[in-house]
Amino acid sequence: MDLKKYFQQQLLYWHDTENNRLLPWKEEKNVYRIWLSEIILQQTRAEQGMKYYERFIKAYPTIQKLAKAPLEEVYKLWEGLGYYNRCKNLHSTAQKIAFELKGKFPNTYDSILELKGIGPYTAAAISSFGFGLPYAVVDGNVFRVLSRFFGVDDPVDSTSGKKIFQQLAQDCLATKEPAAYNQAIMDFGAVVCKPDLPDCANCVMQKKCIAFQTSAVASYPVKEKKTKQRSRWFLFYILEQNGRFAVQKRTAKDVWANLYEFPNEEFAEEKLWKQAAKKDAAQWLNAKNINSAHQLLTITKPLKQQLSHQMIYANAVLIRLKNNGKKIKQYEWKSITELKHLPFPKILNDFLNAKILQLFQLNDAVITQKT
Ligand code: SF4
Repeated sequence: MDLKKYFQQQLLYWHDTENNRLLPWKEEKNVYRIWLSEIILQQTRAEQGMKYYERFIKAYPTIQKLAKAPLEEVYKLWEGLGYYNRCKNLHSTAQKIAFELKGKFPNTYDSILELKGIGPYTAAAISSFGFGLPYAVVDGNVFRVLSRFFGVDDPVDSTSGKKIFQQLAQDCLATKEPAAYNQAIMDFGAVVCKPDLPDCANCVMQKKCIAFQTSAVASYPVKEKKTKQRSRWFLFYILEQNGRFAVQKRTAKDVWANLYEFPNEEFAEEKLWKQAAKKDAAQWLNAKNINSAHQLLTITKPLKQQLSHQMIYANAVLIRLKNNGKKIKQYEWKSITELKHLPFPKILNDFLNAKILQLFQLNDAVITQKT
């Protein structure tokens, strides 16, 4: 039997007999829900995405409800998922479909691909799950499964390699049941042919899997370049004046775009970051033209957060500005209650959840320095 046919049959057989992966969007026919789940699942593991999916469906049961919601409220619901452009695109696409297209979701692969925030993978997923169209999904999971089973050693991160895998995926697709096939390959990659420790011993493909038969499972998929990891060091300044806190919207096209943050400095080296945390807060305030008298309350312990290609290190300096009548206009000033409703990056929420704001309500015992 043709190897591609064998692969397709075994995959569907596994899906029918062994696949018991439960996900809330599986077998879903409502295209709004399918689209929502696919946007959440971009760059997010299914286990993490589940609670966000349920949260969104509860808050916005229809695309019209999502379209009418204020963007900031949608960001707040998205908080912690990362890649915040997805959230912005989700909201603007909801508005386009609800208002310009009168609630009718585009129903061809090309028209779905034209929507903001949708690439070939998501367009293939929505086309097949929502409309039964014969488009194969291709992502990291699919690269891995296909490269191992067929023994393809073209790099998955090269332009030519991507084309080869795209064609191979399309050739293997069960065109009469694209939704079941696409679901099957995604689940198979997640629970059997996993990145580490694939379950080859119990795999229905084992007999003809080239990687397994040549004892080379660990050599696939082949990658051309190693992804570089970047480290970044931030020092946040949590300024309080008369019970209100200085915040700003992050406008840089960077991590956390459009979320709120405390005023901060980023450092090119760990050494400079450590030195900065020790320096007198007055230097920073002067540099920012903030001439108010102040108390330095404390400096938090450093926290770190792993993003996909970046390691973030951060700590926060808590500063109470005395009310000397001067208004500092360059920031928005929010109460603690208001802070709770603003969308913040996870690492800043970790600071807030560590109850550091309570320090502002404590007495002078916590004050380590006075100026
Ligand atoms: S035998 Fe192993 S490597 Fe091959 S498809 Fe199955 S799980 Fe993947």
